[in-house]
Amino acid sequence: MKKSIFKAIILLLTVIFMFSAFSACKNNNTSVDGDDVKMVTDEKTHKVEGTLHDVNVNYNAPVGTLSANGRTEYTVVSASEYSVASKFVSKHLSAATGVNFPLEFAEECNLSAGKYIVFGLNDLIKSTVTVPEASVLGDQGYYIKTVGDDVLVYFTSEDGAQLAAIALLRALVGYDMMSGDCVIYEKAGDVLPAIEITERPDYEFRINSNEMKGDAKYGMGFTQKSGMLQTETGNVHNLYDFFTQEDVENHSKWFSEGAIVQREAVGGGLERVRIGQPCFTAHGDKEEYEALLNHMADQIIEILKNKPDVVNMRISQNDVMDENMTWRCTCAACNASYDYYGTLGGAMISFANDLAKKVNAYIDANEPGRIFNLIVLVYQEALQAPVQRKNGEYVLDEKGKGIPETRYTFDEQGNKTAVLDENGQPEKLVCGRGVAYEFAASKANWIHSFYEEENREFASAIEAWAGLGSSNLYIWSYEISYYQYLYPYNNYHILLDNFKYFKEFGGNYIYPEGTWENMNNPGFAKLRDYINSKGMFDVNSDYNELVDKFFKYYFREAAPIMRKYFNEVQVNLTINENITGGRVHSYGLSDNRVWPEALVTGWLNSFEVAQNEILKYKETDAELYEALSKHILIESLFPRYVLCTKYDKSFSPSQIKEMRKSFLKDFEDLGNTTHQEHYVISDVTSGWNLD
Ligand SMILES: [Zn+2]
Repeated sequence: MKKSIFKAIILLLTVIFMFSAFSACKNNNTSVDGDDVKMVTDEKTHKVEGTLHDVNVNYNAPVGTLSANGRTEYTVVSASEYSVASKFVSKHLSAATGVNFPLEFAEECNLSAGKYIVFGLNDLIKSTVTVPEASVLGDQGYYIKTVGDDVLVYFTSEDGAQLAAIALLRALVGYDMMSGDCVIYEKAGDVLPAIEITERPDYEFRINSNEMKGDAKYGMGFTQKSGMLQTETGNVHNLYDFFTQEDVENHSKWFSEGAIVQREAVGGGLERVRIGQPCFTAHGDKEEYEALLNHMADQIIEILKNKPDVVNMRISQNDVMDENMTWRCTCAACNASYDYYGTLGGAMISFANDLAKKVNAYIDANEPGRIFNLIVLVYQEALQAPVQRKNGEYVLDEKGKGIPETRYTFDEQGNKTAVLDENGQPEKLVCGRGVAYEFAASKANWIHSFYEEENREFASAIEAWAGLGSSNLYIWSYEISYYQYLYPYNNYHILLDNFKYFKEFGGNYIYPEGTWENMNNPGFAKLRDYINSKGMFDVNSDYNELVDKFFKYYFREAAPIMRKYFNEVQVNLTINENITGGRVHSYGLSDNRVWPEALVTGWLNSFEVAQNEILKYKETDAELYEALSKHILIESLFPRYVLCTKYDKSFSPSQIKEMRKSFLKDFEDLGNTTHQEHYVISDVTSGWNLD
C-alpha cells in the first residue's frame, strides 16, 4: 500500500518536473531534445559585465613537463611572507602528481639556472613581464604567466596569494575543493600548459556561510580574515558591549527608555543583556550626543591601537527577541527623524558619519592610510533608505538610484534644523568617509532572487540606498530556514543570481548566513558552500556546471541517486511553495502536508542504495569510502528527522526508539548541535525518553 502511494507521488513529481523543465526551456526560445532535459536548470540569463576573469590555459601547447617518471625538475620559489599560500601550492602539486615539489623561500631567483614556479617575487616578475596595473588587479587580483618553461605568479597581498595559489593549482592539476574532505585533481600534472591568467575576485570579502573547520575555508577560497570587529557578544548586535550599566544610569539619553545592558547574574557577578536599543540621536540633547560620540570614538580608537587587523565595525540595533521587544528608540528626536526619513536608517547613517569624523581624525594623525569602516546594518526598522520619496515611493535618478535628502538634526521636542556644510549650504545625507551600510533583508523571500517579482520591495530598497554613495555594498544574505535548520531550503538555483544582483549595486562584502552552529547540516548545505565559494569569486559561474561537478565528485557512484533525491526535494518544495512561503523565519517549511510519509520513507530507502553504490571503495580506498559514506549520512539526517518527529506513530515503540537513538547519535557524531537557530537538539530529543 505504502509503496504504491510513494510510486504515484514520484510519478506525479516527475511529470510536474518534466513540465516545468520544458516550460523553462520554452521561455528561453530554445528547442530541446526530450532526452536532454536537465533536471535542474537555472533559467536566468543575467550576466554581470566588467568582472575580470581572463583565463587562458592551453594544454595543447605545453611549454614544459611538470612531472614525469615520479619526479619533477620544478621548484616552487616563494617570497617568505607568502608561506601559507606557497606551502598550499607545494602540498597540492605533490598530492596531485605523487611527486614531491620542493619549496624554497628566497628574495631572488636566477630563472636561467633551473625550472621554477615563482610565487610572489614581484621585483623579479615585473622585470621579466609586464604585469597589469594595481588599479586593474585591486588588492586581491593576480597575474599568472608562463615564460619559457617557468611559471610566474604575481599578486600583492596575502588574500591575493590565496586566490592565486588556487588558480595556479586549477591550471596545473585541475584542482578543486567541494568540501573539506573532497579535493579533486582533474589533471595528471604531467604537462605544463601555456598559461596567462588575469583575475580578481568579484567580492573581496567572501564570508563562509556554514561553520567550517580546517583547510576548507582556505582551499575553497573563502576570506580568512573578514576584518570585522568581534566583541564579547559577537560581530553584530553588539553595540551594548561599548557600555556598562553605569553608563545607562549616567547617560540615559544614549538609550531607549528602560534599557538594560548589564544586570546581576543568577549565581553572582554581572551578565550582559540586550534590553532596549541604543538611541542614535541621544534624545536630541546636543551635549549628550557629543558625549556619546566621544565615548564611542575613544573606545574605537583604543581598539584600532590594539587590533591592527580590524577593518570593519558594524553599527547595529539589538535583535528583537526573548525579553527585548523594543524595535527602536521612540524618543521625540528619534520619532521625528524616523518620520522625516521614513526609516531608522537616517539616524544611524547620521550617527555613523559623525562618529567616523572623530575616528578619521585619529587615523589621519596617527595611522595615515589605515582603512576602517563603520558599517550601518540596514535591517528591520532601518531597512528602508533615507532618501527622497514621492507619494511613499522612492524617487530614483537616471541611474536608477535613490536621491539623497537634506540632512536635519532633531531636538528634544522633535523640531528639525537643517545641517549646513562648510559653505553654509544645506548638507545632503550620504555616506561620509569611512561609512558604509550592510543590506540585511531578513524578511525578503530568499527562495527567489532579487531579480524576481517576489523581492521587488526589497530590491527597491537596495536601489534607493545606492543613492547614498557608499563605494562598497556590504550584504548579509540569508540561505536557510532558521526555524528548521535540518529542512532543505529551496534556494540552490538562485544563489548565483543574488550574487549577481548585489554585485551590480557595488557588492564587495557578502555573508550568506547559513548555520554557524552545525558542522554538517543536511539539506544540501555543502552544495551551497560550494556554489557560494564559486559564485562570490565569479558571479557569472554556471549553475548547472557547478551542480553537475559537485555531485560527480562529492557522491561519486552514488551521484545519480543523490541527484534524483535532490531534484525531488526541489520539485516537492516548488509545488508546495504556497504552503511553505519563502521566509527564513517561518515554520511553514515543516508543514506536514509538504512531507508525506511515503515520500520521506522512499528517500530514506534510497540512501541505503546510495551507500551500496560506494561500498566498493571500502577495500580499495578507505579514506574515500569514509568521506563518501559520511556525505550520504549527512543528507540522510533530514528524512530521518522527519520520520522521528512527525511519523513516530507509524512505528512500534521499540522501532521508533531505535530510529531516534540512531538519528541523535549520527547527528551529534557529525558535529551538529542545533535544530533551530539558538535552540539545541535536546530541546526536541529530551521528550523522546531515550535511555
Ligand atoms: Zn532616541
